[in-house]
Amino acid sequence: MHTVKVNASKKYDVIIGKNTSALLGEKVKELFGNVKVCVVTDDTVAGLHLDKIKSVLNEGRIANDAFIFPHGESSKSPEVIFELLEFLAKKHFSRKDVLVALGGGVTGDLTGLAAALYMRGMHLVQMPTTLLAMVDSSVGGKTAVNLKSGKNLAGVFNQPELVLCDTDMLSTLPSEIFADGMAEVIKYGVIADRELFDVVKNGEIEENLEAIITRCVAIKRDIVGEDEFDTGKRQLLNFGHTLAHSIEKESNFEISHGSAVAMGMVIVSEIAWANGMSEERCQDEIVDALLENNLPITCPYKNSELYYATENDKKSSSGRISIIVPEKIGKCRIEDIALAEFRELLK
Ligand code: MG
Repeated sequence: MHTVKVNASKKYDVIIGKNTSALLGEKVKELFGNVKVCVVTDDTVAGLHLDKIKSVLNEGRIANDAFIFPHGESSKSPEVIFELLEFLAKKHFSRKDVLVALGGGVTGDLTGLAAALYMRGMHLVQMPTTLLAMVDSSVGGKTAVNLKSGKNLAGVFNQPELVLCDTDMLSTLPSEIFADGMAEVIKYGVIADRELFDVVKNGEIEENLEAIITRCVAIKRDIVGEDEFDTGKRQLLNFGHTLAHSIEKESNFEISHGSAVAMGMVIVSEIAWANGMSEERCQDEIVDALLENNLPITCPYKNSELYYATENDKKSSSGRISIIVPEKIGKCRIEDIALAEFRELLK
């Protein structure tokens, strides 16, 4: 078992290892005292893990309830969040009580925002059940729901008070969902850690899973610690993501986030190398790492199509755009360029 200590506007622990969900009861008592817990989860994860979580809470004599919503991105909506808030009110939850987000990114984002809104803020524990959520969305405090106009447009920064990553839960993940998380792991290797990158490129995943997750969380912790509110260094986490958002949009979200990040990382390393922005040619190694982890390396869209999608993206409001350039494996920098220049690069 590993613990990563996060020191953002809230201090909290991320505990990573086998069967860490068994710690939920004692940790809730230790951190929050005598409280009620509402577990928020989708109908898929409920079928896999909710019984166990409820029995951990019952054994600890902690009063609990569960709010279950339909799985999928479409539940990350104002409608579902207000249903959850009404549920909490009907069940007489107070601001000293606890929301537990049990699930992937959708659940974490939705629950994190609800915890900030209900009675102006209640306690929040993240229990990510996917690799992607463990290494990325459960740490760092970004929460949101989607609006009709776009993804993640209504949200707040709200750090959790505890994150429990139970690696046993990953064994029930379909392989393509696991691969999605590996795209983010490869991203961490490229932006910050050559050694991590090599482990992943060599496919030494299973035997190192706990250490891999711990390393990714620690990298994210360090970056978020310096730039919690995403005005500078935190953009490094967007390596491959500027184009990924356009790829996801172009595909009407048929292409998963991880697959789109994989394609985005390849394209941006190619253009960085071709334009003399990198010290090392990174794309070949990135391609090897992606292939080893069952991720796609080629994008079905032309660069010009991606450019127009990017131009409409919220991140390019000022006519400029930040792209994350790999200098070499293990080191990236943020480059702020004009959209016109970005269009040239994509040619
Ligand atoms: Mg991502």
